[in-house]
Amino acid sequence: MSGDLFGDMDVEYATSIADRAIRSMSQQFVPVTPGNFSVWFDYAMGTSPALRKTIDILIGNKRTFDASVNRELYATFVKPHAGSDTTGDFPDQLQGVISSAKEFLATAISDNRTQIEALDAVTSQVHANDDPRPIIERLVAELARVNERATALETNFIETTQELDRIRDSLRAAEERSNTDALTGLANRRSMDEFFRSAQIAAMEKDASLSILMIDIDHFKKFNDTWGHQVGDQVLRLVAKVLQDIVGEVGLAARYGGEELIGVLPGFDLAACTELAEHIRLRISEARLTRRTTGQAISSVTVSIGVAQFRLAESAEAMIERCDRGLYEAKRLGRNRTITEADIEGETVKNDTAAA
Ligand code: GH3
Ligand code: MG
Ligand code: MG
Repeated sequence: MSGDLFGDMDVEYATSIADRAIRSMSQQFVPVTPGNFSVWFDYAMGTSPALRKTIDILIGNKRTFDASVNRELYATFVKPHAGSDTTGDFPDQLQGVISSAKEFLATAISDNRTQIEALDAVTSQVHANDDPRPIIERLVAELARVNERATALETNFIETTQELDRIRDSLRAAEERSNTDALTGLANRRSMDEFFRSAQIAAMEKDASLSILMIDIDHFKKFNDTWGHQVGDQVLRLVAKVLQDIVGEVGLAARYGGEELIGVLPGFDLAACTELAEHIRLRISEARLTRRTTGQAISSVTVSIGVAQFRLAESAEAMIERCDRGLYEAKRLGRNRTITEADIEGETVKNDTAAA
C-alpha cells in the first residue's frame, strides 16, 4: 500500500494478500481496524522491506502488538505514504504557492506594461483635427480590459494569500502535534523530556525542589477486554483529563507510554507532590464513566501512583526509575494507592505481610 492506497491491483491477487494479512493479524491478535489492516496488508505484500523486517523482529521477540505498537507501525510505515494526510507535503505545497505567486507577479507586471503600451498606442495616434469619439471609445475599451485583468489578478492574489494562510496553519498544527499525544492531548514523551531537562537545571540553579508522579491505571487490560478498546481509550482520556486539570497549572502533564502518565512538578517536594498525587487518585476513583453509545455505567477506574523527588545531579532516568519502584510497590500492595520512594525506604512496606 505504500505510495498509493488505491492502486490498481488484480482482484484475485489482492484478495489472496488480504487473506494472508488477516491470517497474520489474527495470529498476532491484532484488531482488524483500517489502520492496522493497511500495515498488515503491506506486510503480506512485502512492498516495504523495512516494515517486513520490523514486524518479523517484533514477532521473533514475542512482542505483543498492543495499541501503541500498532499505532507506531502505522505512523512509521503507512501514514507517511498516505496521500490523504491533511498535513500534506509542505515542501511541495510551498513550491506550488511560491511558483504561483511568481507567476502572479510576472503576469501583473507584464499586464501593466501591455496596458500602458496600449494606451500609448492610442494617444500616439491622436492628431489635432481627429474626431475624438473613436479615440475615447478605444480608451474606454482599453480601460475596461485593464479593469477586467485587475479583477482577475486580485482574485488570484486572494487565493494565493489564503493558500499561504492554510500552509501556515498546517505548519502550526504539525508543530503542536509533534509535542502532543494525539489520544490524550497531553504532552508527549519528547516534550516531557525537554520540559524535564530545563526543570532539572532550574531546580539545581535555584536550589529548589522538583518532583514527579507516575500514574498507571489499575487493571487497565480489563477495561479493554470487557468493554473494548474504545472504552479503554475513554478511560485513558479520563485519567489524562484529571491529571491535566490538577497538574496543568503548576507543572507538566504528559503521557509517558501506553497507559502510564507522568506529572512533572517544579517547586514540589516529596510531601507536596504526594498530596497532589492523592488528590488526583481520589478524583479519578470518584469519577463515573458511562458508555457513550449505550449510556451503560462502566466500572469505576482506579490508579496507582509512584512519587519521587529529584536528587541533585541525577539523571531523569534514575528519578523515573525510583518513581517506578513506588508504582510497582503500590501495585503489589493492592493498587489504588500512592507510594513514594520514602515509603519504600521505610520499614512499612518492606515485607509482604505489610500488604495484609
Ligand atoms: P496493572 O493494574 O497491573 O497495571 O494491570 P494492567 O491491566 O493495567 O496491566 P498492564 O500495564 O500490563 O496493561 C496495560 C494495557 O494497556 C496493555 C495494553 O493493551 C493497554 N494499552 C496500552 N496503550 C493503550 C491505548 O492507547 N489504548 C488502549 N485502549 N489500551 C492501551
Ligand atoms: Mg502499565
Ligand atoms: Mg496498568
